[in-house]
Amino acid sequence: MPTETITDSSDAAVGRAGFRWLGRGGVRALSSLALDAAGFANAFSTRAGGVSPFPSNDLNLAGFDEDSAENIRENRRRFLSLLPGDWTLAACWQVHGTSLRVVRAQPEPRGVGEEERCDAVATDLARVLVGVKTADCVPLLLGDARTGACAAVHAGWRGTSSSIVALALRRMKEEYGTHPADVIAAIGPAALGCCYEVGAEVVEIFKTRFPEYADSLFTPTHEGRALVDLHEANRRQLLDAGVPGENVHAAPLCTMCRTDLFFSYRREKKLHGRTGRLLGVVGRR
Ligand SMILES: [Zn+2]
Repeated sequence: MPTETITDSSDAAVGRAGFRWLGRGGVRALSSLALDAAGFANAFSTRAGGVSPFPSNDLNLAGFDEDSAENIRENRRRFLSLLPGDWTLAACWQVHGTSLRVVRAQPEPRGVGEEERCDAVATDLARVLVGVKTADCVPLLLGDARTGACAAVHAGWRGTSSSIVALALRRMKEEYGTHPADVIAAIGPAALGCCYEVGAEVVEIFKTRFPEYADSLFTPTHEGRALVDLHEANRRQLLDAGVPGENVHAAPLCTMCRTDLFFSYRREKKLHGRTGRLLGVVGRR
């Protein structure tokens, strides 16, 4: 079945940023053209076209304590059907740390292995998708065009302030001999600088750890609080690590602005007491 053509008011901006929409049977996802061209299947999910009651027909892809395993499995099946061919998914139990799981053997289907606590997953195996779950945090997909290794990284404010994407690149160098100059990076939909407010203590952590550019990441609001641009923070870390600027692509979509398209922990947890999870995945064909 061919993928559907999808139109949206944000289409032009999405295209300019180096992404296209994938769609099938009401399920839709964003995909990086540069990663695709380098041989990596990749997708950032949306909430459309699923079976979960968040509140209805939502594509919840994780969170077994808030949704049935049946729903999540069916939603994952639908999401992965956007990518041609057979794939196995390798994810992890995310804890806002900086550890990376290296997938060295074909993972078991049905989520076995997801109990490993880490916030990044890497592999150089073909037909294995490494993935991270998000709902406002920043998902990053990395593909090494030379070695075929790839990684998915979960970067909330904690992970970002701990330079998790730079640490993931370092691990890729140790494991696969990755040179940052060969890496293509796609930064997925997240709570952006328009919406994501943090407290003074978070501002201070960034100012201490990134004195050269921390000021450019924040827009002050009140009482020491500020809006933070985690896309820009992660982009700076990629550039500092040696990834060429033209290889870094950020999807211009905010999960807090666009709850019609994405799950937002900050917007929905308060409203409904729970929210779904998105998946960002990448794998070598
Ligand atoms: Zn926003």
